[in-house]
Amino acid sequence: MSDKVSTETIGKNLSIIREKVAEAAGRAGRNVNEIRVMAVTKTFPLDYVKMAVDAGIGLFGENRVNEAFEKYILLKHPVELHLIGHLQRNKARTVARIFNCVQSIDKFETAEALNRKCESIGRTMDILFEINTSGEDSKHGFRNEDDYFACLERVMDLKNLKIRGLMTVGPLTDDKKRIRESFRSLKNLYERTRERYRELEFDILSMGMSGDYPIAVEEGSNLIRIGTAIFGKRQ
Ligand SMILES: *Cc1c(COP(=O)(O)O)cnc(C)c1O
Repeated sequence: MSDKVSTETIGKNLSIIREKVAEAAGRAGRNVNEIRVMAVTKTFPLDYVKMAVDAGIGLFGENRVNEAFEKYILLKHPVELHLIGHLQRNKARTVARIFNCVQSIDKFETAEALNRKCESIGRTMDILFEINTSGEDSKHGFRNEDDYFACLERVMDLKNLKIRGLMTVGPLTDDKKRIRESFRSLKNLYERTRERYRELEFDILSMGMSGDYPIAVEEGSNLIRIGTAIFGKRQ
């Protein structure tokens, strides 16, 4: 990973990741084709995005709105772009313009602001609710299940948002058991939501990053968000 980043190194890293995903899926008796790999390009330059596109990646994640705007507005190739970081209400307009999905909804007011901007430009936006499954204070997301369900029911009335699933960031620890518990609790909430609201097309479970994606896949993730393992360490 200390090599210079190129389309080739990105492609190589990607095949290692896909192999590990396939192994984890195999252990869990899952179909590997249902698991998408997102390239997280935060802090990395546009050149890296272009190389990732050349290496065959079509799904990207950024966690800051301004950084994503400056970078992706220059990308000629159409890609699918998700916001995976916290959304401030005053950024809703830019978000409505450049993202395909917001994975980090954890407050009704933010969803409402986003809905309004989407309505004003005549589009709908996929959203995920972010759940804090680790209990860590540094992390965003719902900590309380009742708050989450209450918010979901209100967001269901927002015509320009489409509720698609859940996202979490696992705990920052080497304790595999705690990481697994965190992912398992998200999967459990995901399944219960699907049962309770069958009218929704609720089908995205976003969990797993460079350090923990094999566990996430074993626990049911269908979208893993990978930065470091594709591009190398961030500055
Ligand atoms: C940075 C980030 C990632 C990717 O992290 P890596 O450890 O570099 O793979 C995934 N999800 C979120 C929400 C992030 O902020």
